[in-house]
Amino acid sequence: MPSSDKKFNLTTQIIIALVSGSLLGIIINLLPLLTPVKLWLVDYVLDIGGQIFLSLIKMLVVPIVFVSLVTAICNLGQEHQFGRIVSKTFVLYLITTTIAITLALAIAQLVQVGHGANLTTDTNFQPATDTSFKDVLLALVPENPVAALAAGDLLQIIIFAILFGLAIQWTGDKSRDIKRVFTSLDNVVMTLVHMIIRLSPYGVFCLITVVFARLGFGIVLNMLGYFVTVWLVLAIQCFVLYPLLLIGLTKLSPLTFFRKMAPAMLFAFSTSSSNASIPVVYDTLTKKLKVKKSVAAFVVPLGATINMDGTAIMQGVATVFIANAYGIDLTLVDMLVVVATATLASIGTAGIPSVGLITLTMILTQVGLPVEGIALIIGIDRILDMSRTVVNITGDATVACIVGQPVKAVKKPRAEDSAT
Ligand code: ASP
Repeated sequence: MPSSDKKFNLTTQIIIALVSGSLLGIIINLLPLLTPVKLWLVDYVLDIGGQIFLSLIKMLVVPIVFVSLVTAICNLGQEHQFGRIVSKTFVLYLITTTIAITLALAIAQLVQVGHGANLTTDTNFQPATDTSFKDVLLALVPENPVAALAAGDLLQIIIFAILFGLAIQWTGDKSRDIKRVFTSLDNVVMTLVHMIIRLSPYGVFCLITVVFARLGFGIVLNMLGYFVTVWLVLAIQCFVLYPLLLIGLTKLSPLTFFRKMAPAMLFAFSTSSSNASIPVVYDTLTKKLKVKKSVAAFVVPLGATINMDGTAIMQGVATVFIANAYGIDLTLVDMLVVVATATLASIGTAGIPSVGLITLTMILTQVGLPVEGIALIIGIDRILDMSRTVVNITGDATVACIVGQPVKAVKKPRAEDSAT
């Protein structure tokens, strides 16, 4: 099987698509003379290509989450303790998000991001209506599972799939046929995922060209301090914290992890959506990193919905940036409120583009900062959104590897090694 060649090719192809798309986008942005051609090329040809690709991949999200989770749960052996998977996942998600936001606040304060920025707001920002934690809890259980599936409400789908899978398992022999149907459906959905993933380089090229053609790169230069601070903290979380967790809690080498995760990370970068990345991340974890399906099927969609380390980082840096830009001092209590709110906000943040900015309003309101301050950073948020989505999905994948220990690690426990 030339599978490793194929994997290598796909990563390389996506990188080529990303680099050439970014360059082409910046060039198109800098060419003022060809407005009609530009509109036709960017808003028509490339945008259609990118949007069709996004729809194709989003089309897979509900089937993959529902089918793979039901299949995984109904095939859980007695030796598996689903309760432990759930509690371990929640604790790790909570810890990594808390570290992310704390790091963001500490580094942003250290470099005094936004100090003396003297910026004016030139974009209108509509604050979101507040969603209370009670609303989040009440919305967890679907009154109508078909409506949840149709609306693509991931948390509701996860709850229904777990209960449905458990019911199949507990029905015993009488549910053997439906178990077989789901196992077979799972294989079909995965074939569909592979068919569409093969189109990634073309989709990524279209998406990335449109982003840079519309935004250019000049906008980044105006906000370099904020931009670099967010990137720095994202990089520490992704390339220092996650590898440390992998080294400490699994036997997986971080290098192997990143090599195998590269296409999924590039994919998240191009789509800015953890939700849209679910099929690719799930496929990478189960096929390339050998994470148990029962774990990946639960941890990945849950993480795409409730675990947003990258988003929390942006929110921490943005809060300090806005406070400094308005000349408002944040106290230690304010910081603690930011840590708690950002961690909770991450649970209520859907894994779709730009939603982190909406939940940022909750955090600003909690510490009494002007919500209009978001208009300062909205212009460059699209590019940062791409980067933080990479961290969001890498955090989910790290937790999946820890909870669903790769097979090799399970086969060679240390105690055994030293006993022989
Ligand atoms: N785009 C992010 C995601 O999908 C969410 C955000 O930070 O806006 O993971």
